[in-house]
Amino acid sequence: MKYTVFSSGSAGNCSLLKTNELNILIDAGISKKQIEECLSPLNMSLNDINYLLITHEHIDHIRAFSQLIKLPNLKVIISKGTLKWITDYAREHNKIKDLENISYKLQTNMITEVKRIDDTIMYPTININTLSISILPLFHDAREPIGFLFEEDNKKLCYITDTGYVHSDLMPLIYNCDAYVLESNHDPELLMASDRPYYTKLRIIGDHGHISNEDSMYLLSKSIGDKTNLVMHAHVSQECNLNILIENKRKEVFKQYNVDDKNIDFVILGLAPTKEYLIWK
Ligand SMILES: [Zn+2]
Ligand SMILES: [Zn+2]
Repeated sequence: MKYTVFSSGSAGNCSLLKTNELNILIDAGISKKQIEECLSPLNMSLNDINYLLITHEHIDHIRAFSQLIKLPNLKVIISKGTLKWITDYAREHNKIKDLENISYKLQTNMITEVKRIDDTIMYPTININTLSISILPLFHDAREPIGFLFEEDNKKLCYITDTGYVHSDLMPLIYNCDAYVLESNHDPELLMASDRPYYTKLRIIGDHGHISNEDSMYLLSKSIGDKTNLVMHAHVSQECNLNILIENKRKEVFKQYNVDDKNIDFVILGLAPTKEYLIWK
């Protein structure tokens, strides 16, 4: 399993997961042209992508969605709520023509809709060849946002961004993953001192907003284990966060909870593409 992040943050989110058999894009929040430019150094094109996974309907996650679904062989995994939001929006804005492939794809089972049940946390699992993808229900100001847990031969990659918190029911599932891509969105002091409107600040720090540095590090301190070798701090706010604050908060919280991190590589993601990381062989 190899993993490359093309872009992470509120300007656009998109990353590529490669297994021996599959090429999977997680979110399409940058332009189609940018995705093509990121694929080209890997000797790949959009025609090589088998699956597109969408976390939720915010523009920094679906910018190229209507173009990518035109690809003939691409399958989509998206929650029912997110798909409904996208089709309702297209209908209201007279853009339904852009989505004409959706109905075709629905008929041909090329869209897998996932449905969470709010009170009991359910996480349906989708199996594709040797890879299993568990759908993680998240809490964000979107219709039905989701994260993903990828598993193959007892190895796990956890992908969670755009959530106010992570439900405690998910903690056993995401314990001791080989790698984490986890939101570390903002420093609350920088956020509150920024000139954003007050309601935006409240939205971001709320239960359906984004995870702060401290909450992210606490979550990691309770999740990482002896198998963990890579942590990617994701969806980092450009205005309300700094790399040094992320690193300092990580050191502080890990010290407080006695976390052994000497075998873990830490990467702070941004808008530039990363190298290709080998998550497991
Ligand atoms: Zn986002
Ligand atoms: Zn969002």
